[in-house]
Amino acid sequence: MTTGSDTIIVVEDDHNISDLVAMYLRREGFRILQADDAEQGLTYIERESPKLLIVDIGLPGALDGLELCRQVRKTSDVPVIILTARDDEIDRVLGLEMGADDYVTKPFSPRELVARVRAILRRAGAGTTKAEPVITEVGTVVVDTGRREVLCAGDVVALTTREFDLLAYLVANRGLALSRRQLLDGVWGEGWYGDERTVDVHVRQLRKKLGDELPLTTVWGVGYRLG
Ligand code: CA
Repeated sequence: MTTGSDTIIVVEDDHNISDLVAMYLRREGFRILQADDAEQGLTYIERESPKLLIVDIGLPGALDGLELCRQVRKTSDVPVIILTARDDEIDRVLGLEMGADDYVTKPFSPRELVARVRAILRRAGAGTTKAEPVITEVGTVVVDTGRREVLCAGDVVALTTREFDLLAYLVANRGLALSRRQLLDGVWGEGWYGDERTVDVHVRQLRKKLGDELPLTTVWGVGYRLG
């Protein structure tokens, strides 16, 4: 458990890719555990409380990477980076809304993956090390950036790391119409080269989880506005 904070679990049955990813991340000082399939991955995840997961979609056995991700999301908001092999898989990643924080398309450069890992962990850590807790009420939704907690009509709502960051960013820029590009830069980071549809997927998730309690408006031709 003491090493859990530095541990990244790589779930990928292609050993060439898994070893390469592991090598690059070890150089960064992370402890890496490699799992060949989703079941082994789940065992490691339960045992190690990892800091981040890297999960390939195409895995042997009963569960593929997306199913693994969905299982993990039931109990944990650990950041997940999905590895995909094909474009139509990206549509599945975005379309299924299974709570991944980022995705990387094969073939990818290990350096780029390391940069993504760093960016995600920087953001995930930012909320916990920040000194001043800010509690904002938006309608009946209460956003507590100190505790990284969201209450909807008094009940705690489980958000993924990215969903929370997006909501916190919208709250910080309340009343302003924000473009998808601005949201990507502000929430995903300026080095993020993903699809703008990613924003829509996460907004959809926020709306699903917080419902009409969240006064989040679509600004046609621009993006989104809170309040
Ligand atoms: Ca694979």
